[in-house]
Amino acid sequence: MAVTAKLLRLYRVDQQIRGLRSRLDAAERYLRSQDHQLSEIDKSLKTLKAQAQKLEAEAANDENEMKAAEQRIAMLRERMNKAQTSKEHSAILTEINTLKADKGLVETRALESMTKVDEIREQVAQKNAEHAERSKVRGVALTDRDARAAEIKDRLAELEGERKAALAEVPGDALASYNELMDLGIEDIMAAVEEIDRKRMEYNCGACYTMLPAEHVNVVLRRVEYTQCPNCKAILYMADEMREAIQNKGKKASKSA
Ligand SMILES: [Zn+2]
Repeated sequence: MAVTAKLLRLYRVDQQIRGLRSRLDAAERYLRSQDHQLSEIDKSLKTLKAQAQKLEAEAANDENEMKAAEQRIAMLRERMNKAQTSKEHSAILTEINTLKADKGLVETRALESMTKVDEIREQVAQKNAEHAERSKVRGVALTDRDARAAEIKDRLAELEGERKAALAEVPGDALASYNELMDLGIEDIMAAVEEIDRKRMEYNCGACYTMLPAEHVNVVLRRVEYTQCPNCKAILYMADEMREAIQNKGKKASKSA
């Protein structure tokens, strides 16, 4: 078997492996995105709960402040009732009024805090509902991922066996070129030579459509060596029918000459 044929056999197996894995990879990505969204919801919940706690603590402090003010007002009222002079009476009254005004401010602030806490609680409820919904979606995504993994398990093992066998046949230098392209993440590691004009010997790289120099086409035709597209570096191969047609044409040409 020619070196390009050996490479092509490996490439076909790799394409099948990639095709087989693509649905699993998509399922993996989808599952990861659900996990990410869940963790974002958790983060928001944590922030909201901390905000609510802080506001509740502030409201509790205000409540205590109000109680203290009430006690002080009650105490002042008693003293006012026992006041000896009108001057003393009016001084206590002024203090009571000041305390009442302060207490009013604290009360307003406490009410505002509690209103905000209610708003936050609503948001928490919303986020909890989102979390429950997202958890359901994640559950489905997980089942799907596992199903896809199970689905391809046997076929994948089979293909990996085929890959090992194909790999063993490929000569070292060709394999190095192949692996180099694979490591670069290039999808078209191999490309078919495409015919543009047989008479003029014009051929394209099937991956990047660059016109191939005649020397490259000749290497592919001879099949002893392998060659790469000068532009995209894809390892070139030629369909058997095309090669036969070109070679027959050559024979005819030499007969008629
Ligand atoms: Zn190319």
